[in-house]
Amino acid sequence: MSLLQISSFAAGTWIAPGPGARTIASAITGAPFATAGNDDLDVQAMLDHARGTGGPALRALTFHQRARMLKALAQVLSEHKQALYDLSFETGATQKDHLIDIDGGIGTMFVFASKGRREMPDAQVYLDGGIEQLSRNGTFLGQHICTPLQGVAVHINAFNFPVWGMLEKLAPTLLAGVPAIVKPATNSCYVTERAVRVMLDSGILPDGALQLVSGGLGDMLDRLDCQDVVSFTGSADTALKLRQTPAILRNAVRFVAEQDSLNASILGPDAVEGTPEFDLFVKEVAREMTTKAGQKCTAIRRIIVPQAQAQPVIDALKARLAKVTVGDPRQDTTRMGALVSNTQKADVLAKADLIGAEAQRVFGNPSDFDLQGPDTGAFVPPMLFHCTDPDNAQRVHDTEAFGPVSTVMGYRDLAHAVALVNRGQGSLVTSLITHDPEVAREVIMGAAAYNGRIYLNDRDSMAESTGHGAPLPHMVHGGPGRAGGGEEMGGVRGVMHYMQRTAIQGSPRMLSAIGQKWVSGAPEVTGPAHPFTRRFNKLEIGETLNTTPRTITLEDIEHFAHFTGDTFYAHMDEDAAARNPFFPGRVAHGYLLLSFAAGLFVEPNEGPVLANTGLDGLRFMKPVVPGDSIKVRLTVKQKTPRNEDYGEVRWHVTLTNQDDEMVAEYELLTMCAC
Ligand code: NAP
Repeated sequence: MSLLQISSFAAGTWIAPGPGARTIASAITGAPFATAGNDDLDVQAMLDHARGTGGPALRALTFHQRARMLKALAQVLSEHKQALYDLSFETGATQKDHLIDIDGGIGTMFVFASKGRREMPDAQVYLDGGIEQLSRNGTFLGQHICTPLQGVAVHINAFNFPVWGMLEKLAPTLLAGVPAIVKPATNSCYVTERAVRVMLDSGILPDGALQLVSGGLGDMLDRLDCQDVVSFTGSADTALKLRQTPAILRNAVRFVAEQDSLNASILGPDAVEGTPEFDLFVKEVAREMTTKAGQKCTAIRRIIVPQAQAQPVIDALKARLAKVTVGDPRQDTTRMGALVSNTQKADVLAKADLIGAEAQRVFGNPSDFDLQGPDTGAFVPPMLFHCTDPDNAQRVHDTEAFGPVSTVMGYRDLAHAVALVNRGQGSLVTSLITHDPEVAREVIMGAAAYNGRIYLNDRDSMAESTGHGAPLPHMVHGGPGRAGGGEEMGGVRGVMHYMQRTAIQGSPRMLSAIGQKWVSGAPEVTGPAHPFTRRFNKLEIGETLNTTPRTITLEDIEHFAHFTGDTFYAHMDEDAAARNPFFPGRVAHGYLLLSFAAGLFVEPNEGPVLANTGLDGLRFMKPVVPGDSIKVRLTVKQKTPRNEDYGEVRWHVTLTNQDDEMVAEYELLTMCAC
């Protein structure tokens, strides 16, 4: 059979395998299956193409335009899922594993598309936090902003998730406005290559936004500078080597690392046999051990249980693992497929032997297990170990057998459980299965600093929980120390890895123009008509309406009190109100003032304003007493398109009294027709 030729996509051209190409074997049969790599790849041309063509094209778009692009890419990938599944079997993955990698990757892209539209502006500058008051009179202010890096993101990915591993990095990178060069692990690059072809063939991406290296990177890392980012996923050893690339150190190139990790799961002291939590724990551990044949960076490597529960947990896990059929992932009956390669199998077995020197294997014999597949493939059974002296053991805490291998260890008390977790020297995730909030608090206080994520589960959340091992696009993925010290995803946080944060100092007028968001103190714009009569696309940032004043009478206050039922003493009883340190006597209701404000600024006729959708940041600053008057200033602060028909207008509203003192301030949200 001829080998699949897996190409790279460099500077706009597909480059077939060439000198130095590596042969990739099928995980199922061990037979040669594909070939990838080309030592003649012109990596400088790739960098130039990304920096000179892809970057400028992406930066010309707004966050919303890029988010729409991500959504379109996710849609087109969804249409080609079957082709990706068909190829992915060859990596040893089962159909269930494909759902995590392929559907999970596409889902991640959809989430970033949606977050980009909802949480980022339709602009090219992202505002990080609010305005900082740097001067007494507010003529000199500060604002942190983020703009896209002007280089290229080099994504070096691990073999275990050829699609998710690419998309979880690509989505935030493109959303930031930065082009990417993706280098998947060679062992499974044929799946990534297919997904890249689907995306490129769709014509959705600007030229230069996405390139692919199938095979080795050559000396690309030696050519990076301060505007580039390396986002690496893989083993701690490779990360250590790549971090030390002189150009990366010299130019302070950002290096995000997601490494291996000795993740743990703790069974709470309350979760004894017979509780829903005990059963949940056993189910989650068995699932984490066998999904992707244990080749998950988040898989549970250390099973930390109360000493008295060690044997019941081992018995329950053995019963579950015995039901796991190992074999050809294409068969419906198979529950666990193969490791990615026979080299990986040899590595896992060697690591299991190291663990075996400190712990007894209580389930799974790699030399004698029931296999429903070719014996030339990279199959191993789930292997469960029991370490009776975890305090004096070392390998069980520092050796990652990247396969279906996990070790049970007992703890004396919660402090001991936390100490064992932290022996991992920094993990991606620890889970805790308990129904006791005090147990949860103690573990969080002791172990959160050593973990990128802590997953709590119990009878209340188990029906809807997402699983110990599933990194979610909304939540950060990464961990300290051994886990690499990096962080990915976490919603918009993940986009920031590809942007530069800059502190901007200047006048309100300058900051308004840069952020496309009106800042108090910036000049007001007088529009040609009442702003409520102006369509979304016509309204200008800073366009302002100043109303005439309205006097508040005692009758107004009493009428409002009886009409609404709000007869709080501060509005109704002069003496009682005066005893309150905040009021001089009877005062107007805050909500009365808001209602009067609406009456002052509203334009009553049918027009472009469709609905009032909310109000943010309301503050009442000074009481209003009968006889005072209020007037309103309404300013267009920010515009966010929602669709072709309408967009959200955020208005800055201030109420001032007859002495021009601020009485109330808030932001009003309206939907306005385009
Ligand atoms: P690996 O051997 O460290 O390889 C990772 C990536 O680095 C591959 O793309 C590899 O390419 C590339 N690479 C290796 N040497 C390189 C060099 N000198 N220059 C440029 N690139 C180089 O890891 P793996 O075996 O693929 O993945 C398994 C490991 O990844 C496990 O330890 C696992 O825990 C970890 N992992 C971590 C996460 C996480 O999010 N923290 C996720 C998944 C996996 P080639 O394949 O071409 O050698």
